[in-house]
Amino acid sequence: MKAVVFDKDNQLKLVTDYEKPIPKKGEALVRVTLAGICNTDYEITKGYMGYVGILGHEAVGVVEDVNVDPSPKSEISTLPQGAGKGHPLIGKRVVPEISYGCKKPDCPWCAEKLYRHCPERHTLGILAKDGVFAQYFTMPLETLFEVPENVPDTQAIFVEPLAAALEITEQHHIKPFEKVIVLGDGKLGLITALALNAQNLDVTLVGKHQNKLDIAKAQGVKTSLLQDFPIEKKYDVVVEATGSVSGFETSLALTKPRGTLVLKSTVATGKELNLAPIVIDEITVLGSRCGQFPPALRLLASGKVDFSPLISATYNIDDAIEGFEKNKEKETLKVLLKF
Ligand SMILES: [Zn+2]
Ligand SMILES: [Zn+2]
Repeated sequence: MKAVVFDKDNQLKLVTDYEKPIPKKGEALVRVTLAGICNTDYEITKGYMGYVGILGHEAVGVVEDVNVDPSPKSEISTLPQGAGKGHPLIGKRVVPEISYGCKKPDCPWCAEKLYRHCPERHTLGILAKDGVFAQYFTMPLETLFEVPENVPDTQAIFVEPLAAALEITEQHHIKPFEKVIVLGDGKLGLITALALNAQNLDVTLVGKHQNKLDIAKAQGVKTSLLQDFPIEKKYDVVVEATGSVSGFETSLALTKPRGTLVLKSTVATGKELNLAPIVIDEITVLGSRCGQFPPALRLLASGKVDFSPLISATYNIDDAIEGFEKNKEKETLKVLLKF
């Protein structure tokens, strides 16, 4: 099958004869229809995580086979391929959660279904698991979620970053009268602002690019250019989505005493940071990563958010490498790969 592979020589390649995966027990084989390039994929091509294999963790696909072998012996099934015929997921459009855990009975994270924190987790295209930039991938059944009929592939492809945005409301209760700032108008900031705004919260998106801010504004989000925005400590919740040190400092300067600063982007810095304001103003700093898919799919089905303006370009899998180049351009939001 065709697959976009980051190999041990640190080369990103389109391979045409990659072996089609066989689902293990309890796994499904999914035929990919659409995939999304994410900044994490780009980071991996720079050596982040030391990952080698098929890239990609954002996909929509159709379940083609399910390994229903009930025998407990080995992970590999002896049933013939196609034996899962008749399984209710076959033929269904699904999106995969990005991680699955060890599922050992004594793993406290897996017991709570917090697979993304399991120390022995596998993460699509990031850690110990081939990703989705290929014609097929396999994932355990419990990580696959059926896409509601009224949600097209081009919206469903945003479920992972949308779930990550909604994770904020799972971790922290934002009261309806509180003022929320999302700082940063890249993909992450836009999706977060749209997601929080759709929950009727008082959200202002602050960024540096008028054209990107306008995408959120068209859907009812209050927006402001950073240069026009007074930096005052008066916001209850500030979401840092710039990924830069200066963004972190600005976010801190916007958070009111006893407010909450949510870190949504991974700011890696060698620079010294002054953390004194966190203590002086008793600010709660909240790290926030991935979220649950069912609420994100419900929000997509409600039609309250529209992510189509975030799609910058769609490439055929044969031109995937070109798509990666496009993803590097500053003005680019989302690049999709079509199969
Ligand atoms: Zn991603
Ligand atoms: Zn585990």
